[in-house]
Amino acid sequence: MGRPASADPVAPVLPLSAGLPAAVPSPADPTTHPAHHSHRPVALPAGLALAGGELVATAWVRPLNGDDEEWLAAQPPTRAGAAVVSELLARTVVRLGPWAPPPPERLLDLPIADRDLLLLAVRTSTYGHRFDVVLSCAACERPMDVSFAAGDIPVQSCRTPDAPLPTALPDGRGGVLEVALRPPNGRDQEAVAAAAAAGDPTPPVELLLQRCLVGVGGGPGGADGWERLPVPARGALAAAVDDASAKVELAMDLSCPECGVDFEADLDLAGYVLDEFLAPAGTVLYELHLLATAYHWSEHTIMSMPSPRRRALAGLVAQDLRAKGHG
Ligand SMILES: [Zn+2]
Repeated sequence: MGRPASADPVAPVLPLSAGLPAAVPSPADPTTHPAHHSHRPVALPAGLALAGGELVATAWVRPLNGDDEEWLAAQPPTRAGAAVVSELLARTVVRLGPWAPPPPERLLDLPIADRDLLLLAVRTSTYGHRFDVVLSCAACERPMDVSFAAGDIPVQSCRTPDAPLPTALPDGRGGVLEVALRPPNGRDQEAVAAAAAAGDPTPPVELLLQRCLVGVGGGPGGADGWERLPVPARGALAAAVDDASAKVELAMDLSCPECGVDFEADLDLAGYVLDEFLAPAGTVLYELHLLATAYHWSEHTIMSMPSPRRRALAGLVAQDLRAKGHG
């Protein structure tokens, strides 16, 4: 285990703290204080463009509970992270613009940055704003501790267009090629992961770009359009799609306390949060048993409590049992 390292996250583009819910205050009695009392709005950096020009850019999430943790623990490890995130958001996003709850299809339509921020909001509403992560040094691979707050994670807003974006790409012969593109969404993330799992040899990044390529020179986009793109245009397409996308990305300048090498690390936020949510899932059944025995609350009441509160109460019951010599 490495000594604690000083992490120096890049300056946030937008302060995020105001847009994310804090950990849920503990209700005195879970049966009379439904968690939605503490829901706070999350401002989405991209939003969902509806026909007619309306943009849906606000959502509300609830904290993780025991039902979610049991469901997460039951997911096969081979299931793609994007699909797990989609279903987790369908469980925990209580409202998206006018929809409460939102249809799962609408959550799939959300640009990637919005989905990342919603997952982050579920995390902060469950476990708070502080992150203590363990990363590996890029040179010596020894573990190092890195701490940051949710507010340190830069959020770059970029509103979702309500129609494909016309863009001119270099054609490689001194001219330009007119294409239409859109930012990638959850549906694209799932499709790319499914293709990789099915043995599709196309690099995931290329597959994502093909899906975001809506048209080329008045003709179709997709894989056919991609084939018609000269190589310089392909590189320019990647940059144009990136420009059209909102971002929730944490790039940290780190210095290894063991070998002293300076390096930059991009944290896979979604992967980290899923791992963190999964870690304590094995204890849910034991906590349910302790609380049901001690308080005679229903299984539904216990399993729909925010996880940290359920865990803390179960800890107190276990402490009492130990004090009485039953633990
Ligand atoms: Zn090192």
